[in-house]
Amino acid sequence: MTAHTFDVPFDSKEKTVSTTVGRSDFDRVMVPNYAPVNMVPVRGAGSRLWDQEGREYVDLAGGIAVNALGHAHPALVEALTEQAGKLWHVSNIMTNEPALRLADKLVKATFAERVFFANSGAEANEAAFKLARRWGHNTGGAAKHQIIACTNSFHGRSLFTVSVGGQPKYSEGFGPAMGGISHVPYQDLAALEAAMSDATCAVVLEPVQGEGGVIPASSDYLQAVRALCDKHQALLVFDEVQSGMGRTGKLFAYMHSGVVPDILTSAKSLGGGFPISAMLTTTAIAEHFAVGTHGSTYGGNPLACAVAERVLDIVNTPAVLDGVAQRHQRLRAELEAMGAEFGVFSGVRGSGLLLGAVMSDAWRGKAKDVQMLAQEEGVLVLQAGPDVVRLAPSLIIDEADMAEGLARLRAALQRLVA
Ligand SMILES: *Cc1c(COP(=O)(O)O)cnc(C)c1O
Repeated sequence: MTAHTFDVPFDSKEKTVSTTVGRSDFDRVMVPNYAPVNMVPVRGAGSRLWDQEGREYVDLAGGIAVNALGHAHPALVEALTEQAGKLWHVSNIMTNEPALRLADKLVKATFAERVFFANSGAEANEAAFKLARRWGHNTGGAAKHQIIACTNSFHGRSLFTVSVGGQPKYSEGFGPAMGGISHVPYQDLAALEAAMSDATCAVVLEPVQGEGGVIPASSDYLQAVRALCDKHQALLVFDEVQSGMGRTGKLFAYMHSGVVPDILTSAKSLGGGFPISAMLTTTAIAEHFAVGTHGSTYGGNPLACAVAERVLDIVNTPAVLDGVAQRHQRLRAELEAMGAEFGVFSGVRGSGLLLGAVMSDAWRGKAKDVQMLAQEEGVLVLQAGPDVVRLAPSLIIDEADMAEGLARLRAALQRLVA
């Protein structure tokens, strides 16, 4: 390789101005659509995080089910830095090796025959919903555009995806709503049957509702939904943005039930912390996205795909997937024991390493308090609504980190009830 020089040399030591920033600057310079916790993490390793003050935390939140292999996993750092020295971006007027390799591996590992890459869960879903609409239009005419989704579901924050998502608090107040979308209660087969017709182009659901409270669908329900879709010639779309990439102990949650969707979306854990998402589908459906019908500048970016390829190589192994089931048992048993001891949880639900501890009647609405006390005790957990404490740790969190995280969570619950 020949050495080359840049026309405009940049001496980082000379030019970089160091400024001190902290949590209070958030309220000064950021759009106030988030309310971040009162510390700023600066470093992570495995399932531990450190903040600006050097305080250490056990991370059971996993960047909201994203950091599937924890923080700064050496194999991912290697994949990223190796690719960073080669090629960052070429746009979709060219293809690239990492994208082709990742797509090939996703196709080999799933029902899918074709892959579309984007950068976030919302974008993968946007592509899925647009593809379903285009497929409906081409196969059944303009009337076949109805999308049926579930109440309390979450599919992202673009205007189309909040409209399909079943939570009015995210979709109201943004002008005219998107038409042609109906909602039925999750796991209510009769309601779905009543809502469906030959005008339905797609039924969209999360095999495990994540944001909606960590609620897995039963295999019977999923099978019956599949049958209804077949009856009405509608596509079945599984949003596996949160439940996919090993989170439930299989590569994708649909593999537990054997119910195969027509379109599946993946994001969050797919990049292990690097932004990337994918829409998977069959050749026959993919054909309805001809050249020019859809696209993304960054979708299939080499850096993102190189990292995701490594994530997939590591996650899609018996060692990691079986480990998820073992960790599930351990965490679930301990959460149930704590819940019983302090009377704060009425039960624990979820699948694999997506767990929800449901606040008991006496502590209804207090999941946020648990999250805040847990942080004070040095363990990071999530909420899924006001009544559910959610855990979505690294799929390879080790025994010592689990034990320490649980001990700190126990201390937080003890303080809650004191
Ligand atoms: C997080 C999430 C999304 C949105 O993903 P973004 O990357 O935030 O756009 C969509 N669907 C589900 C099920 C999710 O959990």
